[in-house]
Amino acid sequence: MRVAVLLEERCKPNSNAFAYLQKYAAMCERDCIQVEDNKCKILETACPVCLTRAKHCPDNAVKIINLPEELDHDMTHCYGENGFRLFRLPSPREEQIVGILGPNGIGKSTAINILSGTIRPNLGDLDNPLPDWNDVVTSFPRGELRDYIGLLAEEGVTISVKPQYVDKLPQIFQGDVGELLDRVDERGEMEQFASLLGIGQIVSRKLGDLSGGELQRVAICATLLKEADVYFFDEPSSYLDIYERMRMVGIVQELASRGKRVLVVEHDLAILDVLCDLIHVIYGERAAYGIFTPPRSTRTAINAYLEGFLTEENVRIRDKPIQFLRARDRGEEIGMPILRWGDMEKKLGDFQLTTGEGQVRSAEVVGVVGPNSTGKTTMVRIIAGEMEPDQGWCTMDSVVSYKPQHVSTDFEGTVTDWLDSEIGPTWRSGEFRTQVIRALQVDQLLELRAKKLSGGELQAVSIAICLGREADLYLFDEPSAHLDANARMEAAKAIRRTMESNEKSAMVIDHDTYFIDIVSDSLLVFQGEGGRNGHAVGPLPLRKGMNLFLSDVGVTFRRDVESQRPRINKPSSRKDREQKASGEYFYSK
Ligand code: ADP
Ligand code: ADP
Ligand code: MG
Repeated sequence: MRVAVLLEERCKPNSNAFAYLQKYAAMCERDCIQVEDNKCKILETACPVCLTRAKHCPDNAVKIINLPEELDHDMTHCYGENGFRLFRLPSPREEQIVGILGPNGIGKSTAINILSGTIRPNLGDLDNPLPDWNDVVTSFPRGELRDYIGLLAEEGVTISVKPQYVDKLPQIFQGDVGELLDRVDERGEMEQFASLLGIGQIVSRKLGDLSGGELQRVAICATLLKEADVYFFDEPSSYLDIYERMRMVGIVQELASRGKRVLVVEHDLAILDVLCDLIHVIYGERAAYGIFTPPRSTRTAINAYLEGFLTEENVRIRDKPIQFLRARDRGEEIGMPILRWGDMEKKLGDFQLTTGEGQVRSAEVVGVVGPNSTGKTTMVRIIAGEMEPDQGWCTMDSVVSYKPQHVSTDFEGTVTDWLDSEIGPTWRSGEFRTQVIRALQVDQLLELRAKKLSGGELQAVSIAICLGREADLYLFDEPSAHLDANARMEAAKAIRRTMESNEKSAMVIDHDTYFIDIVSDSLLVFQGEGGRNGHAVGPLPLRKGMNLFLSDVGVTFRRDVESQRPRINKPSSRKDREQKASGEYFYSK
């Protein structure tokens, strides 16, 4: 099957691609390429000459893809003539948590929209956009999924959805938290769930005044309060710290044990791993097509994803595997201190940050972990020279490159122009090009306008810019936010490699434990009560730091024998109990 996809934002009028397609539109009598009403179109039955023309369209605006014949009858949905195609679907299962793992822009939210009844799938037939439900049902092979779609068709299931973009909630609902929760509180359990999620004290606040983490927990709470048979959670861990992520895991698992079906899209692999019973991997090409694979066990799915190869499908999803190092492989070439601090204090409103004594050495990467609102950003801003401590000292004579937590830009121009203006022409070649620009897939964004980038795209470009500047110390505040699992692991590797090959230092604040594990030599651990006080301990050697941090969280990790990746032990399992007793929270061997 041949698929022709036009990336709409790249072939708007006045774009290079538009001019190019317009030039060829008139050249073939079969009208393979058409431009009408400022819209471009390419027939999938186009003649070989026009196909070649389309493939050479500038700015990668056109994708011509040949898919295996076996997919011919498996198209679930298509967004318009040259739009995105989705093949097959994941299946919600009774009493189980089913995970979806895949990159951004590949059809995960689309699948949730279909399985929650928001979109009726068109089965790829654009002449019949609302097919008979019966045809939809029978288009799926007999089994769990077909039964589920059957239920959906006869409205035999009730559904509750936690949408992906919680930051849009304040625009949709003007009232306060209590009013929102009250509306969906079908079992009268609002107080109980609000306190479980730690949002009991903010019920009278307006949605617009909440932080990202608070909005996320309100959205999760609302989803849980609604009484339903099937629960969907699209990226539930965004903005949450690891304590809140673990609390979310417990609450969602509780749903499944009450017999509910649960489907989750999640990019934090440690969380996905401990949360799910089964995982569907989805692969394909961003914005062009996505194919769901049958479910695998959680462990197999994540290992295959990290390895970059799906054996059953015989599909490579990444050139190189993502590897986890053992702690002893690290830290041998770390050099002299380039930054030191001691007994700093900083008051901001009702909040107070204190630190012990600490230092960062050249070629050292310090992971920074701890609960939300305990002063991690504040400390990094002091180091970046944006703030002075009230008390204590901080000696720093090195040049700093800083990626703040919230990235935004009003740069007028393309990503190429932006990179040129921030870091000069060095990004165009050499190691940086392969290890950073390509690894973060920034090379696929070069023609786009910087202002138009999505959250994940903007994050990737911002990480590249931060890494591309000449500096001695690189500061990253939550680089994994908005990135998919693959981009996270690539970003962690890119930061680590750049520091190793240039013998530079970095501090990286993040809540994704795989990210922290890949990137860090040592750990700066924040403790305290969010919003009131925070205390920074360390940097400590990675294992010691992890032990301190994880004992605060109450979570233990073991190592996967095959991939060496850390895996969260089931709470109260034998391993969990043994490791807690011996104080080895991070891994036993
Ligand atoms: P994911 O959740 O995996 O990030 P989505 O399911 O949101 O991906 O989107 C998959 C692709 O489908 C996107 O790249 C986008 O190009 C396209 N798409 C999503 N929604 C629509 C829509 N309403 N109309 C047209 N195209 C859409
Ligand atoms: P973290 O990065 O650990 O989430 P932050 O350093 O961003 O924490 O914030 C710590 C606390 O300080 C938060 O409660 C935040 O609301 C508060 N805070 C940060 N900046 C200011 C400010 N300029 N004025 C008053 N309070 C602030
Ligand atoms: Mg999505």
